[in-house]
Amino acid sequence: MRILVSNDDGCHAAGLNALAEALKAFASVTIVAPDRNRSGTSHSLTLESPLRVHWDGPEIICVDGTPTDCVHLAITGLLEHEPDMVVSGINSGANLGDDVLYSGTVAAAIEGRFLGYPAIAVSLVSETPHHYATAARVTCDLVQRLLSHPLPANTILNVNVPDMPWAELKGVQATRLGYRHRSEPVSKSNDPRGRPIYWVGPPGAEQDAGIGTDFHAVRHGYVSVTPLQIDLTQYTALDPLSHWLQGIPLP
Ligand code: MN
Repeated sequence: MRILVSNDDGCHAAGLNALAEALKAFASVTIVAPDRNRSGTSHSLTLESPLRVHWDGPEIICVDGTPTDCVHLAITGLLEHEPDMVVSGINSGANLGDDVLYSGTVAAAIEGRFLGYPAIAVSLVSETPHHYATAARVTCDLVQRLLSHPLPANTILNVNVPDMPWAELKGVQATRLGYRHRSEPVSKSNDPRGRPIYWVGPPGAEQDAGIGTDFHAVRHGYVSVTPLQIDLTQYTALDPLSHWLQGIPLP
C-alpha cells in the first residue's frame, strides 16, 4: 500500500507531518509537497518555468511549485513507484463550500483523481488548529474504508474535521457543499515608499449553511465528508442555452 501525501501549506507544515506519520502505521508514505505555503493556488500548473525538487529526507520531496505541480510531477515521472492513493492535507483551516474552488489542498486531491487514483483532501476547521491528531486518525479510518470498499472512480472526498479531541466528535456525515457570502473587501495599505498595496481579504461568512451542508456538519461537531465531482457543466441549462443561442447571428 503506497500513499502519496501532498498539501498546500508546504512540506514542513504540522498538518502534513501529522498525516504522514499516522498513515505510516499501515502504508508506505511518500511526501511530495510545495517548498512553501501555496494556499489558494487552486488547480494551477507551472508551465513557463522548470520545477526544481529537493529531498528533505528519503521520503520527503519539496518542489518549488504548486500542489497540482507536486502531484502531477510525482505521478507522471518523479516517483519510482506509482501510489495506490493520493491524500492531501491536513490543511490548516477549513475548506468548506466555495473554498474548494480556491483550495490547493483540494486541487492536489483532484489532480490525483485525474491521474487515476482514489483521492482524499483533509482540512482541520479552525483558524488556529490544534487537533491534527484527530484529523489524522479520521483520515486513516477513511483511507482503510476506501481500500476495503472502493468508491466510484470519479469521486473525490473533501473532508473537514472539527478541531477537537477525537473522543468529542459526534460522528461522520456525508454532506453537500454550502455557500459563502461574497468575500470580505480587499485590505488596502501603503508600502514604506507610499505606494498602495492590497491584500486579498478573508472569505465571506456562511450563507447557505443549513442542514445537509458541510458548514452545518462541522459546526455541530461532525466530520464532514463531501463527495466532489469535476464536471462543472450545468446540465439543466443546456436546453435553455441552446434556445438562447438561436438569437446569436451566425456568419
Ligand atoms: Mn492551506
